[in-house]
This record gives sequence, structure tokens and C-alpha cells, in this order.
Amino acid sequence: MNKPVFSPSSTLRWSNCPVRYFLEHEQGWKTKFSISGMLIPRLAGQLIANKIANYLDSSIELEENPLEKVNLRTSDLGEDMVAEKVLKTVEAGFKVFTEQNPYIDMETVWVEKAFPEYGNARLDALFRNKDSGKLVLPDFKLTSRTPARYAYHHNMHHYAWVVREILGELPSRVELCIINSKELTIIPVSVTEESVEAWLQTNQQAWERMQNQREGLEKPWMNPSHTDERGNACPFQDACLRFMWDEQLMKAGGYEKEV
Ligand code: SF4
Repeated sequence: MNKPVFSPSSTLRWSNCPVRYFLEHEQGWKTKFSISGMLIPRLAGQLIANKIANYLDSSIELEENPLEKVNLRTSDLGEDMVAEKVLKTVEAGFKVFTEQNPYIDMETVWVEKAFPEYGNARLDALFRNKDSGKLVLPDFKLTSRTPARYAYHHNMHHYAWVVREILGELPSRVELCIINSKELTIIPVSVTEESVEAWLQTNQQAWERMQNQREGLEKPWMNPSHTDERGNACPFQDACLRFMWDEQLMKAGGYEKEV
């Protein structure tokens, strides 16, 4: 594949603000505030997906020391106590999955499978219904919320597209498997041949621009609202609007750059 492909999460972040994407992902700038909101749920999601993968296919290795991983990352935020809570939530969610596993009668096609050539897409699992022969593509989510916005889901279009590219068929069921400490809920995501084509057309344009910006062929632009994906004030406002990306001023102003 010659055309550039970026991951679903990178594409979403770039779409909100190419400048922020460039600062964080191409140049390695970070602020404590900028990562704290997403880090904990993301870590919990990774841990439960790994536990479910190991449960479905014992050849998939468990994270060696998940507690250490959570401690390591959360200590960046000064929130060491969060680690225990995350692990308890993951354990409770995993118990719910094993008791209510809705895929128990299906054939497992893929488990925790990564596709570096497709923007590092990482599919939690892919099943085949033994009766109908049709593919079922779930994504495991550990959350107590079931927002309506999940009805259309960018990541799931990306994953369904990968399945179609590799196996030549679109999953007939694409869904979010929402797990909390008490129950498991399936939320269908509407993915059709038409919606995948529309998604692809849009994303290929985005990936081309992302690649151009990575190679310095064009400059990233600013999100004029200077807010993050949730509408909160962007933590890079000082960097962009006060320090004008001057590295020394940014460092003095509390931003850190990974080497
Ligand atoms: S302050 Fe505005 S331009 Fe700068 S990174 Fe944030 S959203 Fe983008």
C-alpha cells in the first residue's frame, strides 16, 4: 500500500487541531494537564482488552506486570493511588465478560491483532457466526457510560475497512461491547459498504495532509477555537498564543519535551 495511513486515534487528534498533533506527536511536547484526562481510561481499556484476548486465546501473553505499568504511567500525574482502582475496575469488568461472554458460541478468527501497514490498527477480536458464516467485529470498552455518539464510530469504520481489505468481506455486525463492573451491553455501530467508502474518501485526504505536514511540505494549521475534543480550553494555549512556539519560553512555562 503506497498511500499513507494513520491510526484512528492520530487521525482524530489531528482533525481537532493539526498544530497540537504536530506539537505532541511529531515533536514530543507534553503537559501534565494534556495527558491526564485520557490516560487512565485508555490504560484500563488496554488492560481489559489484553485480559480478554488471553482468555480467548491463551497463546496471547498477559501484560507482564500491569500494576507496574499503571504505577509508572500514573506516577507521572502524581496519582499513584489510581493504579489500584484501575486494576480493581479491570478485574470486575473481566469477571463480567467471562460470565456473560456473548461470543462464546462463535468461531474466533482474530484476537488482539495489530496491522502496522494499516495505520497500526489494533483489533480486539474478530469472530465468525458458525450458523450464518458472517463476521462479527466487536471492540471491548470498559466504561460506565453508553453515549449515543457510539452509534457512529470512527475507529470501527477503520477496523471494518481493515477486515474488508484483508479478508475481502465487510463484517455484518460491528459493535461496541461495553463492559462495566455489573453488566455487559452490546451497542451496534452502523457500518455499511457506503459508509466505509465515505469514511475512506475523507480519511485518505486527511492522511495525505498529515503526511505532507510530517514531511514539512505544508504547515499544520491552528484550531481557531483553541479547545480540545471535549470543548475544554486547550492546554497548549500558552505555547501557541503567548510563547509563539519558542522552545525556551515553552520549557520555562511548564511544557516538557521528550527527547
Ligand atoms: S492552542 Fe489552539 S492552535 Fe494551539 S494546539 Fe491548542 S487548539 Fe491548537
